Amino acid sequence: MTETIEAPAALRQINHWIGGRSVAGESGRTGPVYNPATGRQAGEVDFASVEEVDRAVQAAKAAFPAWRAVSLAKRAELFFRIRELVHDRREEVARILTQEHGKVLSDAVGEVTRGLEVVEFCCGLPSLLKSEYSEQVSTGIDVYSIRQPLGVVAGITPFNFPAMVPMWMWAPAIACGNTFVLKPSEKDPSASIWTAELLKEAGLPDGVFNVVHGDKVAVDAVLEHPDIAAVSFVGSTPIARYVYETATSKGKRCQALGGAKNHMIVLPDADIDMAADAAVSAAYGSAGERCMAISQVVAVGHAHGPLVEAIKERIPKVKVGDGLDPSSEMGPLITEAHRDKVASYVESAPAEGATVLVDGREGAPGEGFFLLPSLIDDVKPGMKAYDDEIFGPVLGVAHVETYDEAVKLVNQSPYGNGTAIFTRDGGVARQFQFDVQAGMVGVNVPIPVPVAYYSFGGWKGSLFGDRHIYGPEGIDFYTRGKVVTSRWPDPATSKVDLGFPQTR
Ligand code: NAD
Repeated sequence: MTETIEAPAALRQINHWIGGRSVAGESGRTGPVYNPATGRQAGEVDFASVEEVDRAVQAAKAAFPAWRAVSLAKRAELFFRIRELVHDRREEVARILTQEHGKVLSDAVGEVTRGLEVVEFCCGLPSLLKSEYSEQVSTGIDVYSIRQPLGVVAGITPFNFPAMVPMWMWAPAIACGNTFVLKPSEKDPSASIWTAELLKEAGLPDGVFNVVHGDKVAVDAVLEHPDIAAVSFVGSTPIARYVYETATSKGKRCQALGGAKNHMIVLPDADIDMAADAAVSAAYGSAGERCMAISQVVAVGHAHGPLVEAIKERIPKVKVGDGLDPSSEMGPLITEAHRDKVASYVESAPAEGATVLVDGREGAPGEGFFLLPSLIDDVKPGMKAYDDEIFGPVLGVAHVETYDEAVKLVNQSPYGNGTAIFTRDGGVARQFQFDVQAGMVGVNVPIPVPVAYYSFGGWKGSLFGDRHIYGPEGIDFYTRGKVVTSRWPDPATSKVDLGFPQTR
């Protein structure tokens, strides 16, 4: 009998995209791209050198004058085409997301659909860029404001939303007339190349959208580049702080969104089944790898016992498996190292005085980077499981006696991304929205990601900068204001007047 040994499938090479075409990396440095559901390497991504980043910036710089001169009507028309293409092909990119990130296919389609809302918002660009006009501010003098693009702008994005978070950036940036350089996460870079090809097919001129892959070398090259006017960043808090400080020290406009520890307060009057459904969905969806995931429940008074029981009951029913299997509800984590780090919080919890109610370290399916949902009770400030952003399927529960104690806990957190309250009392919910220190608040809504015509962003360590991302603040971020004062006097009335211009 002859034994056949299967040759390993060839690794997919993921190149840069510069000036409207795929460009192979020349730095000699690459990174592995895995399928987290199988644990096997599926691709290899080029890592850009400083020179390669410069090439992308030069392509964007060369494309800028013509792009900013394209009429609003034509830009809007292009955005309608982009909208249709992404909508029609969302399953195609969702499969790429599932294979490189691990999230289940339905969640990947949801990611693309939420991102698409930002593209749809940008279809209304002509009205978004409408400005103000004051006639006759002084005799025969009118004043009006206009908003103009910044030039070349860059986006640096995290692994957890490889299609949506870039859309938060490139869509408003390009719609406003800027040209764009994207440095996506090196862990799941293919969606950005899919996007580049789609934008070209939609008719976006070459050089308006560019992609350079890589690590710190590429990020630093972006932050240092004198021809980049603004940087949008989404990722972990330490890197967000570094990006913000470095970019602004180089004179760039910067918005840097960081990590999170989102608390969900459950008051004693809440519907416990509804709160448990919400906690399980928001803690374990996308394996907890969402910056808006609920990672800490705060149960107030007698809500604690029934709530913990209801969450425990639901956990074994969560179907964990390869995201391409339609029956899976939760996929693997992004890398083996990250899976092991997340598992270490379950390991260390008892020594810190917390109680592991559900341990997800045993029984995970297959060879991939899986961890089953875990639940830890009595998690308090000062414990690693409380203080750190775990970014995995580990939900902590704290027990306090009053609403005031619960709010204090949320407000003491160094993060301020999202938070939620579950209650049937409208007055308390309104008080919560007034009291709580976070940028996005849910009332009986566990993941309050704003719709595209509002802006997204946290407070404190969850956002460095003064502009939230997408929505009206996104349009502000990617444009700068100019105020024009104009008059058309009869030249016969002209005379020299050295006084400071007066309006009265
Ligand atoms: P990350 O900070 O490790 O990486 C983000 C980007 O920074 C990537 O492109 C990466 O290549 C780059 N980078 C990593 N290390 C760097 C370094 N030392 N110097 C310069 N650049 C570096 O984040 P991640 O692990 O990809 O994503 C998960 C994090 O992102 C979580 O903390 C999550 O909360 C956060 N996140 C926040 C939001 C938000 O809106 N606030 C949204 C999504 C994700």
